[in-house]
Amino acid sequence: VEAELTWLAGRFEDGVAVLVDQDGVIAGVEAAGRSERDGVRRSLPRRALVPGFVNAHSHAFQRGLRGAAESFAPEGGNFWSWRDVMYELSAQMDADRLFELSLLAFSEMRDAGITTVGEFHYLHHQKDRDFALDLAVLAAAEEAGIRLVLLQTMYRSAGFGRPLEPAQERFGVEDAAAYWRQVDSLGARLSARQSIGAAGHSIRAVAPDDLCALRAEAARRGMVFHIHLEEQGSEVADCLAAYGRTPMQIVLERLGPVAGVTAVHCTVTRPADQEAFLADGGSVCVCPLTEANLGDGLPVLAESAVAAGRIALGTDSNARISMIEEMRWLELGQRLRTRERGVLRGDTGAVAGEMVRAATVAGAGALGIAAGVLAKGAHADFALLDLDHPALHGATASDLPAAWVFGAGDNVVCATAVAGAWRPSRGRL
Ligand SMILES: [Zn+2]
Repeated sequence: VEAELTWLAGRFEDGVAVLVDQDGVIAGVEAAGRSERDGVRRSLPRRALVPGFVNAHSHAFQRGLRGAAESFAPEGGNFWSWRDVMYELSAQMDADRLFELSLLAFSEMRDAGITTVGEFHYLHHQKDRDFALDLAVLAAAEEAGIRLVLLQTMYRSAGFGRPLEPAQERFGVEDAAAYWRQVDSLGARLSARQSIGAAGHSIRAVAPDDLCALRAEAARRGMVFHIHLEEQGSEVADCLAAYGRTPMQIVLERLGPVAGVTAVHCTVTRPADQEAFLADGGSVCVCPLTEANLGDGLPVLAESAVAAGRIALGTDSNARISMIEEMRWLELGQRLRTRERGVLRGDTGAVAGEMVRAATVAGAGALGIAAGVLAKGAHADFALLDLDHPALHGATASDLPAAWVFGAGDNVVCATAVAGAWRPSRGRL
């Protein structure tokens, strides 16, 4: 693939060829026009080739809530009132509906330049703990042609020792044996574009001893481990009351070393705890559009964590699916919080490249896959930007990253490729 510009080492370069092998893996990156190998040469003038975005945290079924949870009782709304509406949706779910909603979400993701999704999947059962809904997610991802890391999620309690509420029965997993049996069963059904990771829903839904055992077995199997953590102040207060520790302190004490562990949100995490978690090898997945939509708040993020590739991004509730917006709001949220500009800037002083890092290679790291970068050995997962799009008009190669991240919409993405197989976005190539 020889595009006019190619995203390498955090900036756009011209005159680059990215070689893709028969298995959909990048075989090399070299100067354009030099290759003497056999194969099809795809020349792409007025296009910029970038790694496909990696969406590290999604609940595809929540796409079904779009437009449905935006009017409010006189007393207003919050995360918990939103959750009641989400439970109404999940209570009606069957395998066909979940397939439809997941296909809608995953197709929209591809249109927006996303080539991998980490699907944090806890809506398992149609009835009686049958796990009938798990396969619908795998099938929808395959139909959309998106790379999927299924984060198979354990959910056991309504919160700190309380049994599941009726609305949560569809999420419930009996015990560790049932959980791993289902992981093994799903493992045999995965396509070449799919892999599986482990997740505990939250410290509310999985007690510390169970969490510890789940993480240990995941590590033994070489699987990544994800958990929702400290999105809401009440979770932290309840956890302190139950265990005398914050959720993050429990993760550090019981799950460490935390390499391969991703904490999703960390909205109210104390900066010192977040730094300890990152220093111990953990990743944090921030979901700016969802956190804004749900009124969660803004995390305090260390710029060094973004530069180290340890802050990933997720579309979470899928109320809006746009990694470009997630990228810009990662920085804009910090500007609103601090009343300063350039909060997450890198060594060069630029911000956009750091946001692209969060949307690509950091997500791939959190999901444990070789993607998010144009380098030999990585999956040939690409997004293609239209340099003739009006939103990018007037940008030079050096201005282009910031014009793209801060000024463009998803319609600058004209195509994506997963494992080298191209798909136009919204019918354009
Ligand atoms: Zn979530």
